[in-house]
Amino acid sequence: MTADTITAADIRINARWLIPVEPANTVLHHQAVIIQGERIAAVVPQQEADSRFRTRETIDLDQHVVLPGLINMHGHAAMSLFRGLADDLPLMTWLNDHIWPAEGKHISEAFIADGTQLAMAEMLRTGTTTFSDMYFYPEIAAQVAHDAGMRAQICFPLLDFPTQWGSGPDEYLAKGTEFIRQWQGNGYVMPAIGPHAPYTVSDDPMLRAVALSAETGARLQIHLHETAFEVEEAISKQGKRPSARLAELGVFNERTQCVHMTQIDESDIALLKQSGAHVIHCPESNLKLASGLCPVQKLIDCGINVAIGTDGAASNNNLDLFGEMNTAAMMAKVVAEDAAALPAHQAIAMATLHGARALGRSQDLGSLEAGKLADLIAVDLSDPFLQPVYDPASHLVYSNHGRQVSHSWINGVPQVQDGRLTRIDVADLMLRVQSWAERIGKR
Ligand SMILES: [Zn+2]
Repeated sequence: MTADTITAADIRINARWLIPVEPANTVLHHQAVIIQGERIAAVVPQQEADSRFRTRETIDLDQHVVLPGLINMHGHAAMSLFRGLADDLPLMTWLNDHIWPAEGKHISEAFIADGTQLAMAEMLRTGTTTFSDMYFYPEIAAQVAHDAGMRAQICFPLLDFPTQWGSGPDEYLAKGTEFIRQWQGNGYVMPAIGPHAPYTVSDDPMLRAVALSAETGARLQIHLHETAFEVEEAISKQGKRPSARLAELGVFNERTQCVHMTQIDESDIALLKQSGAHVIHCPESNLKLASGLCPVQKLIDCGINVAIGTDGAASNNNLDLFGEMNTAAMMAKVVAEDAAALPAHQAIAMATLHGARALGRSQDLGSLEAGKLADLIAVDLSDPFLQPVYDPASHLVYSNHGRQVSHSWINGVPQVQDGRLTRIDVADLMLRVQSWAERIGKR
């Protein structure tokens, strides 16, 4: 072996097991992930890496499984400050009597900064490297994500009525257009458009959101067909299903992310299929609010891309995507009446590559392949409750929870090392969270 056949690189991660996600349904053994700069230079057997690469740092993870960083495709990050504030209530009561009044009283730029950071600490600690957010003051959430080096799709909110962030659709769209201009092309932040739901956004602002998406290429994320009430009310008021109305307004295309979709029939499935729109499945929020059950396996069988999200911590009440994968797999089996529905590898793909597809970023994210961005995580399988290991994919979905995540990198930069966050000062954050809890708890 001569020196000129050896390539210099930054980091080498030696993994006992590796789930690349692409190719699908694959577990590799004794692999090395080579990182150069912000990208993966190679994924090769460790012996081959010995002769081909010289790195400045080597990390041995000999009881770990390495996989792509998880992508949490739906949430309201700052709502983490409302975790446990109101539970065991149906969606509209929960929103009208608890969440919207609390938001009216407490939302501010400081609330968004601290709440988003709290959510990011939890998500990073449990294996998420990219998250999607839809909440007020998106410019603050974007800045907080960017400063911590976390990847995020930040959807600016659009509603018919005034909130702290704006007086109505005109102002939301003006600020949102500026927000997209400011962040588009950023390495960490993907600005996007977040019309809240069909029942909170009327036709004219919806049409302007569609035009903005077409003009800028920004993704559009919307809560859709979340409850039976939403669908029934639209039929009685407008004479058509929410999806039919949105289709007429041109909402559905490959940039569209439809969140929830628990109440769907063949006509809704046909619209999704024809348009290339994506479904974001949030099983725990749907269960907790008794909203309904998304027929995930049926959608996948129709060729529709289904990604996964936790929704906000106020309706889940955690942001651990490993738990969400577990619930998704269990729920899919009951809904399909088939224990073979949504097997472990497919649940992992939903939380990685399918999220990347929904973001329009599958060329960069969602699998461990040479040339993709170095967003990856390691899960320590040495604990007694994860022993013995016959199939690490099974463990990730059926036995694990996110706290076993030991390491994570985003753009090749370490975010979690031996279970500790490297870029968020947790002690300082906890002081600020405590101060919010004292204010919010006084009702
Ligand atoms: Zn939501």
